[in-house]
Amino acid sequence: MHIRYLGTGAAEGFPGVFCQCTACRESRAQGGRNVRRRSSMLIDGTLLVDLPPDLLSQAAEWKLEMGGIEYLLVTHTHADHFYAAELSNLRAPYCLHAERKKLYIYGSYAVWERMEQVLGVDELKRLEPLIEFTELKLFTPATFGKYTVTPLQARHCPGAFIYLIESEGKVLLYANDTGFFPEETWDFLVGRSVHMVSMDCTNPVHSDTPNHMTLEDNVTVKRRLFQQKSSTARTRYLATHFSHTSGFLHRPMEERLRLYGIGVAYDGLEVEI
Ligand SMILES: [Zn+2]
Ligand SMILES: [Zn+2]
Ligand SMILES: [Zn+2]
Repeated sequence: MHIRYLGTGAAEGFPGVFCQCTACRESRAQGGRNVRRRSSMLIDGTLLVDLPPDLLSQAAEWKLEMGGIEYLLVTHTHADHFYAAELSNLRAPYCLHAERKKLYIYGSYAVWERMEQVLGVDELKRLEPLIEFTELKLFTPATFGKYTVTPLQARHCPGAFIYLIESEGKVLLYANDTGFFPEETWDFLVGRSVHMVSMDCTNPVHSDTPNHMTLEDNVTVKRRLFQQKSSTARTRYLATHFSHTSGFLHRPMEERLRLYGIGVAYDGLEVEI
């Protein structure tokens, strides 16, 4: 499974568009891995996890053919993860690729409701030949292409899922946005072995909400997965979805998380599992 992080920032991005805090000023000045766009992941060039408002710049930076995307998996409907208006760009005259295959979209019913709300009935009708939505149900695996995807309960907002994504014997746990996993999710993971965990670390130091994780939560996730044999010593852990509010640029974040055996994702990071 080839994984590419397209974005690793929280809702406001890093630097925050309008923010002038010390971390944002430093991030702007230093650039590179200190700049985090809204969170998304591209798997094998065909499965896109979330549709952030930064997809244009992400695709341009890494010369990605977004026309090759066959599947879109949506975690939840917050605007940093599901910029539904972008779907209109699949059709003419915004897209002139005559042989574009359908884009299959998967998510909770809330995702469909957001599409109806943002695009409206007439636009959805125009997009009918180009997109097809399938509602996913909690803890019920769905298979498309070479992927089997199971939505697990997130601790975030109504209709939010985290996903177990399996392909060709490899298993990825895509865990944002979420707070510390609910017990039903822990129960589901018993007896499964995960090769990589990508997890919410919105603010590693403190959190004002139970709907995102801190570094302490990440460490507990790592320990518990190991204790219940859902991971091995070789499982790879990467933290993502960072907010500027922690004040951490990329390098100090890496130094801190390395102590716990957790890597720090950055925009453009490629991982093979
Ligand atoms: Zn988010
Ligand atoms: Zn800031
Ligand atoms: Zn969210």
